[in-house]
Amino acid sequence: MKKKILIVYTGGTIGMTRSENGYVPQLDSFIEQLHTIHELKDEKMPKWDFYAMDPLLDSSNISVDEWNKIGEIVAKHYANYDGFVILHGTDTMAYTASALSFMLENLNKPVVFTGSQIPLCEIRNDARDNLITALMIASNSHLHEVCLYFGGKLLRGNRSIKFSANDLIAFMSPNYPTLADVGIDINYHTAAFMQPSKEPFTFQRLKRIPIGVLKIFPGIQFDLFKSLLSQPLKGIVIETFGAGNIPQDGKELLPMIQRAFEQGTIVTVTSQCVHGTVSLGTYEASSGLKQAGAVSGYDITTEACVAKLYYLFSKGYDSNKIKELMETDLRGECTL
Ligand code: ASP
Repeated sequence: MKKKILIVYTGGTIGMTRSENGYVPQLDSFIEQLHTIHELKDEKMPKWDFYAMDPLLDSSNISVDEWNKIGEIVAKHYANYDGFVILHGTDTMAYTASALSFMLENLNKPVVFTGSQIPLCEIRNDARDNLITALMIASNSHLHEVCLYFGGKLLRGNRSIKFSANDLIAFMSPNYPTLADVGIDINYHTAAFMQPSKEPFTFQRLKRIPIGVLKIFPGIQFDLFKSLLSQPLKGIVIETFGAGNIPQDGKELLPMIQRAFEQGTIVTVTSQCVHGTVSLGTYEASSGLKQAGAVSGYDITTEACVAKLYYLFSKGYDSNKIKELMETDLRGECTL
């Protein structure tokens, strides 16, 4: 039986056309362009339906409300399709894919994000190939997770980062193997796939939780960031050096973190290095963070860490539970 896939178009370069102010999403012309791709009607391709979100957005405008809308569409049509392809702008695709990986609980079907660096309307483009391959991947019934296909690589969604603003291979998954490499064939690495869940699929909406990200840099004057840490932020991601280190004269930061923690704020430590993991306590420069109550994000990306904080707070857990779950691998987003 032919597989049935729902394509959800959210906006992004893939379907954009030129305007006086640069590229903008344009539904009619994108649909027209899609009809010119005869391969999409090939008998080897799955059947597909197309759903366009309204309004179509440049992904720099996509946030919690749109994550909820995308999740709702998948949840509403979950039983009627074998897989989903989400067409999304590249700029925040890794954030949305991460968020959906948490929101779609006990997912047992493939949800494949893709987009392009060059719109389908241009003669030279990566849109056509990314779309065709994503549709084929979304027909693979062994995939039970949110993934991201781009430029020949199938990545776990919550492990992906956009690392190039220009290259057609724009995404990477620095701390987890690719789920598939696409050349002449689609070579799946099934050992890296998520296991199917035995529980029924459910969907968790997210709330607009106040979250902050603080990047440490040499010479950072922590007292200037006092207000950030004392405001009613519920989750703070601290992007530290290397394995979780902060400057020694950052001692002022520690009581701030402690106070934040006592007020129920979850401070999670990630690394500015794209590859490797946080290991609190390996150096003196990081042990204070642990003592002050910060949790380790291990090798999680900042994108997935932000999404995970939104998710756990939206679940309504208390701060002790959130602290525990931030240090737990929920969807293959971190290596403990
Ligand atoms: N600004 C665009 C977006 O993220 C970039 C892209 O899609 O490649 O929507």
